[in-house]
Amino acid sequence: MDSSSTSSPVPPVTIVGAGIAGAACAVALRAAGVGVRVIDRGRAVGGRMASPVLHGRRVDIGAGYFTVRDPGFETVVGGWEAAGLAHRWTNTFGILAAGEAPTSKSGPDRWSTPGGLRSLVRTMLEGVQVDGDTDVDRAGLAQLAGTVVLAMPDPQAGRLAPVPSPVDYDSVITVVCGFADRGWPFADAAFVKEHPDVEFVADDGARRGDDAAVLVAHSTAGLAARCLDDPQRAVAPVVAGLRDLLGVGAPDWTHAHRWTFAKPTGGHDATRGFSETDGREIWFAGDQWCPEGSPRVESAWRSGTDVAAAILDRR
Ligand SMILES: Cc1cc2nc3c(=O)[nH]c(=O)nc-3n(C[C@H](O)[C@H](O)[C@H](O)COP(=O)(O)OP(=O)(O)OC[C@H]3O[C@@H](n4cnc5c(N)ncnc54)[C@H](O)[C@@H]3O)c2cc1C
Repeated sequence: MDSSSTSSPVPPVTIVGAGIAGAACAVALRAAGVGVRVIDRGRAVGGRMASPVLHGRRVDIGAGYFTVRDPGFETVVGGWEAAGLAHRWTNTFGILAAGEAPTSKSGPDRWSTPGGLRSLVRTMLEGVQVDGDTDVDRAGLAQLAGTVVLAMPDPQAGRLAPVPSPVDYDSVITVVCGFADRGWPFADAAFVKEHPDVEFVADDGARRGDDAAVLVAHSTAGLAARCLDDPQRAVAPVVAGLRDLLGVGAPDWTHAHRWTFAKPTGGHDATRGFSETDGREIWFAGDQWCPEGSPRVESAWRSGTDVAAAILDRR
């Protein structure tokens, strides 16, 4: 994890969570001259925007793309596009159902990245003090300097402090499949209708732009719940599902990743939360603080940005 010092020796705001919500909060506070420290239990930043190297190339195993409806986010994305960090990927996804011919549906532009979605969060946090591999617990929270922001799913924040009206999350198991050759009956990505095990499949080579023969499948919440204690058990049903839906053979390699808190099942009616316990200000951010539309990358960015604005307002 990148780490460098801020100008302030005792940072007045500590952000727990180096996903895009925490990063957006850090960017806005830093721009206002506030010293910030970001802590994450992961070795790498990005949270659910995760792009580990698998079989020699980065694969987006969490969020697969992002949309740009928020005007503030649009400005940020314009900067990423100009810097070559993000590109418009597609506005058309396939629709797959077992036993039916594939169709497709157009929607908003979906954006992707040549370097993996995590590269965006890494860029946002350049120059910010980031302490990785640091799992904060309740005792650790009490030791943190100044105002604290918990930028993470409610079930994770709830382990550290009471969250106002917490929302639950569904789980997803991502199964990455590497093939010898490309060849499937959809372009870019496809939603899967009414399948017990597979909900979404993306062509990782298409979205990253290197044409690698790699598919990334997201399980249904039902399969994830059944395999949460052992994500490897999701591989066989997902591979069988891809065979039935796409007519592909057995992959050369697979990789399973568990997202225990993948998608909020509901949303808060505000873009941020706040509580004050024993004189300590705690702010809450993340994709679940999404009063309109679906929780996603851009709602997490909005939430972190709005928490920063609220902190600045109170000073
Ligand atoms: C499989 C999957 C597919 C998705 N697809 C899409 C998509 O296509 N488009 C889209 O827009 N969105 C998608 N999303 C949702 C998107 O990834 C999220 O909305 C967004 O990344 C949330 O960012 P966040 O900062 O709120 O939370 P997170 O990214 O979850 O960040 C929270 C961070 O807090 C850290 N943390 C938690 N507890 C502690 C602790 N106690 N101590 C220290 N650190 C802690 C975690 O390690 C994590 O890094 C997808 C998500 C998943 C899982």
